[in-house]
Amino acid sequence: MKKISSISILTGTGECQANCKKCSGMQHRSCAPKQNDEINEDALRRVLTLGAERGCKKISITGSGEPMLSPKAISQTLSIIKEEYPGVFKDIVIYTNGIKLGNTINPWGDPPIGYWQEAGLTGVYISIRDIDIAKNAKGFGLDKYPSLIMIADNIKNRYGGLKLDMKFCVTLQRGYIDTLEKFIFAMGYLNGLRADGINVWPMKNIDDTVSDDAPPELQMDLMHEWVTRNPDYKIRFLDGDNVPQSDKILLYQDGEIGNMWHREKSTINLENINE
Ligand code: SF4
Repeated sequence: MKKISSISILTGTGECQANCKKCSGMQHRSCAPKQNDEINEDALRRVLTLGAERGCKKISITGSGEPMLSPKAISQTLSIIKEEYPGVFKDIVIYTNGIKLGNTINPWGDPPIGYWQEAGLTGVYISIRDIDIAKNAKGFGLDKYPSLIMIADNIKNRYGGLKLDMKFCVTLQRGYIDTLEKFIFAMGYLNGLRADGINVWPMKNIDDTVSDDAPPELQMDLMHEWVTRNPDYKIRFLDGDNVPQSDKILLYQDGEIGNMWHREKSTINLENINE
């Protein structure tokens, strides 16, 4: 029986505050539920049982839109994991665009992040384009994006001394962080915000291939080399096109599973998971 190292669960309605030009979630929105509290419980239990049987310890909560705009779906998902699979999944993280975490007066309401931590959440991964808020706003297709200092401070302090792992996920893109010099500065800045780790990858097309908007290859190589020489920054550098990884699975919102974000490239589904 093959081991499963992590499960990504697409959660929420697909609604998002941002308008990114190449939205990676768009391809999954047609099968997202319409209501904030709607989750496919049977499919969730099926995939969690499969993961539990195959030694999986890590779960990522993500979405075809911004998952924090569907807080009830997140709470329900966490509650099923905690109550029905106690002690099985040690590492449960949520991917977010950070917008709901960074506003002091939040038009979307504060996320119940303290409750989520009690329900088993162990980390928050914030996707960004730059450390400059004006550039982040541009990258997300918005007029404004909150300050990263505020986001980090809210995660580390505001919600009652949380112990969540805070990581930044940086999409490298021309016109944003696209040279070694800007990269080193940005990594130092994020480290100064007490990030517990930083994931970086080049801008991708909808089908997971590296986009022409990614930084030039030479700069990518220089950045990658710098990362290997600076392990203290805890950076995961994920360059190149994604390759199928059969030890990682995704639960799409129609209840099917796969091993690639771009569904057409997936090499597994429910029928052949045992092969
Ligand atoms: S933040 Fe994510 S889901 Fe929202 S528009 Fe951008 S890529 Fe799409």
